[in-house]
Amino acid sequence: MKIEILKQAVMDSRDGITISDNFIDDNPLIFVNPAFERMTGYSFEEITNINCRYLQKNDQEQPELEIIRSAVKKGEYCLVTLRNYRKDGTMFWNELSISPIHDENGIVTNFLGIQKDVTPRMLIQQQLRDEHQSLEEMKVHFEQLSIKDGLTGIYNRRFFDTQFEIQCKIACRNSDSLTLAMIDVDNFKSYNDIYGHQAGDEALIRVADSLNKSFQRASDFAARYGGEEFVILSSGMTKDQSARHVETLCQLVRDLRIPHSASRTGYLTISVGFSVHTFGPLHPCNVLLARADKALYIAKERGRNQCFNL
Ligand code: GH3
Ligand code: MG
Ligand code: MG
Repeated sequence: MKIEILKQAVMDSRDGITISDNFIDDNPLIFVNPAFERMTGYSFEEITNINCRYLQKNDQEQPELEIIRSAVKKGEYCLVTLRNYRKDGTMFWNELSISPIHDENGIVTNFLGIQKDVTPRMLIQQQLRDEHQSLEEMKVHFEQLSIKDGLTGIYNRRFFDTQFEIQCKIACRNSDSLTLAMIDVDNFKSYNDIYGHQAGDEALIRVADSLNKSFQRASDFAARYGGEEFVILSSGMTKDQSARHVETLCQLVRDLRIPHSASRTGYLTISVGFSVHTFGPLHPCNVLLARADKALYIAKERGRNQCFNL
């Protein structure tokens, strides 16, 4: 093949072609083709005889640069995609391969660099990654929305309803006990009237938070049943254990010491009705719900800020 054709091929290539000198310190470029000049905005004179790291400007922390350095040191081929900067400062993604050129003794004399501007492809990949990520985030968000209460962040009524049924069945099968506590904030209408709805919301968040932290077992949970009412479902507790646990709930809310001028104690309190069942095979779970609800009613009747068991 004529040497002229080889030369013309390099000059006409649409990909950037560079040759560096491996015998000179710092591997400076000794040749760049016109496509490389177009891609980078630098002229042949500006970029020959120096190392081409100026193409990364201050963006020197790219791991691909270490891959290139290592390949040059070992006299090996490598292919990387890295951020480069044109003379005017604009960034482009450069897919760069470097190949060692050997002399007749097998010594690496030069490196051939082939460079492609792959910016459009990288931008599309980035966009796809971003879209995928936001879809994943949305999925998690919607999953949370469907089981978590928007104001307090604890489980919502829907989650409670499904879990209650499941846990009733498990308790039936294992003849295990199940405790349902229904909790209602005392005099909450007047709290809103005195301190405002916003303060009411904040108080509900604090109450929900302390109820939510009140148990240890993974199967137990608190949920917002509606308005200023909450439920706690726990399994495997005796009546005595349940009574002690429910008493601590009342104490936890008292300990928040949220001032409430219309409350007898001067602070926000809760009333709790609870029911404990050791299930035989035929106990329907709505019995538990009805009893806890009635127990709550009695706790209110008896003056609030207390627990009652039925
Ligand atoms: P009791 O001691 O008998 O429970 O009296 P109460 O005032 O708490 O009972 P009532 O059911 O009359 O009032 C409940 C109040 O809770 C009324 C409603 O405005 C308030 N409430 C319900 N949901 C929210 C909420 O999300 N945010 C706020 N700020 N208030 C709420
Ligand atoms: Mg209520
Ligand atoms: Mg209330």
